Amino acid sequence: MMEDSAPTVPTLHYQVSMPQPESHIFEVVLRVGGWQASVLDLKMPVWTPGSYLVREYAKHLQEFSAEDVDESPLLWKKLSKNHWQIKTGSHPAGGLVNASGRRTTIVRYRIFASELTVRTNHLDRTHGFFNPAAVFCYLPGYEGVPIRVTVIPPQPEWQVVTPLPLVPGEANTFLAKDFDTLVDSPFEIGTHRIYYFDVEGRHHELVIWGEGNEQPSRMVQDIEQIIKVESRMFGGLPYDRYVFLLHLSASGYGGLEHKYSCTLNYPRLGFRAPDQYHRFLQLVAHEFFHLWNVKRIRPKALEAFDYEGENYTPSLWFCEGATSYYDLLIPLRAGIYDAKTFLQSLSKDITRLLTTPGRLVQSASESSWDAWIKLYRRDANSDNSQISYYIKGAMISLLLDLLIRARHNNARSLDDVMRYLWQEFGISEIGFTPEQLQAALTNVAGINLDEFFAKYIDGTDELPFDDYLEPFGLQLQSVENGNSVPFTGWTVKAENGKPMIKFVHSDSPAEMAGINADDELLAINGLRVTAEQLSERLKDFQAGETLSVTVFHQDELLTTSLTLAPPRPSAYRIVPVKQSSLAQENNFKGWLGSEFAILRQT
Ligand SMILES: [Zn+2]
Repeated sequence: MMEDSAPTVPTLHYQVSMPQPESHIFEVVLRVGGWQASVLDLKMPVWTPGSYLVREYAKHLQEFSAEDVDESPLLWKKLSKNHWQIKTGSHPAGGLVNASGRRTTIVRYRIFASELTVRTNHLDRTHGFFNPAAVFCYLPGYEGVPIRVTVIPPQPEWQVVTPLPLVPGEANTFLAKDFDTLVDSPFEIGTHRIYYFDVEGRHHELVIWGEGNEQPSRMVQDIEQIIKVESRMFGGLPYDRYVFLLHLSASGYGGLEHKYSCTLNYPRLGFRAPDQYHRFLQLVAHEFFHLWNVKRIRPKALEAFDYEGENYTPSLWFCEGATSYYDLLIPLRAGIYDAKTFLQSLSKDITRLLTTPGRLVQSASESSWDAWIKLYRRDANSDNSQISYYIKGAMISLLLDLLIRARHNNARSLDDVMRYLWQEFGISEIGFTPEQLQAALTNVAGINLDEFFAKYIDGTDELPFDDYLEPFGLQLQSVENGNSVPFTGWTVKAENGKPMIKFVHSDSPAEMAGINADDELLAINGLRVTAEQLSERLKDFQAGETLSVTVFHQDELLTTSLTLAPPRPSAYRIVPVKQSSLAQENNFKGWLGSEFAILRQT
């Protein structure tokens, strides 16, 4: 219903051009029509949903100006780092007013775009890419107003791809129904390759920028299988069109999920070796899974985004962790790799967890809450004081899946939890509270999970992998550190040919010897060591022996004594138990869809 007295809704039309791509500058023009108030506020997001860090996108904005439709400049001032206020009534003539008393205000600014990640903007002679949170301002209070975006490519050969629908009859003009939708819709402009394919009657596009050794036809086939497996799990695809946007770069790696698309960044030559190609497909499975888990099934704190600051939730361990667990499982279900490869991937994650001392300091829910200040802001102490909610969350999800499956003979699983959350929260996009998440897991598991949550999600108890793997005929085996290398507690990597200490484990021999991250390791017992032969050299000594270690600390030559500790496992492997029962083998088959016997084959 419309009433005459209702406030007038402004019309918003952005235009993005890039007349000189080599300058890395996007030219942005915003036309606000029908604005009646005497001031117009504009704010730029400080972060982008899916990446929980305040990135201060306004730092790349320059040359802001505002004018009336007759090009007379309007006064404006900056009220905070990301907030501009324009005096729309400041034109001496009072602004150009149309018959109904409405003005048109024109805002111009430029955005520097030279950061090639999925969360930032990149423009050069080969293409333009932008993540809308890092380009477009919103009008506070008018986030629900539709926004038109016209892109003007620098040359006719450049095409524009975005998940937004085209406005019929207007060249390269797209419509976002509101600001959230605009932020959720990345743009690629250039001479990229596009591969079209349909799955279950829905349109898909794989858009690739950059040269690489990918095999598009095989890639499309494998992505189709991933889509089918995930669709089957949730009971259908909740969209008409979905875009996979792939950037091939030297060594970049990353993904950002959206409701109708995802942006992927992957090494251009990372498609030949099977393990690398599998890693790529895991990335695809991960970002695609997010179109349900976190884009539609989301924590209460992310139900309505606050673009101006941190959005705190203790549940990222589930949003990212469950998604990470499924990104290993889905390629297996899609027939891309076998159960052995799946268990190897899982073993790598378990190794990362169990070799990170911070797992005993920070809980999964604390890691989620502090994402904004910790996960993306690593320092020399990070591995001692924190654990990634991705890795810990994935391992918690593994335990929950195994717990549910073991209790219900595979008749129930974590899949049922995902489906329940989709039905209860995802379809209607109502945010879930941490209590509702626990209730969903409890309902499907059929047992009280208070203790599980207290110990493994809100607490820092060691995850009891063996207890949960045993019903499936599996156990965890530690791998000794390359034939018993005594434990020092330092991590050394070659940098410019120099052995540099990159990390010092808390309460370790290296820490007690006063060795610091960023020290340059020079000699052990007076003899030079290199990063490459360090492990071999340490085998010449026994736990309990004291070494004389020489380092450069801040360019100062220091020699200190380090007493070696007993060797520690450097890796963990999931292996079959010595004697498996039929029940265990059946559980295994129910979980991974594969005969247990393949684990016995070498
Ligand atoms: Zn993710």
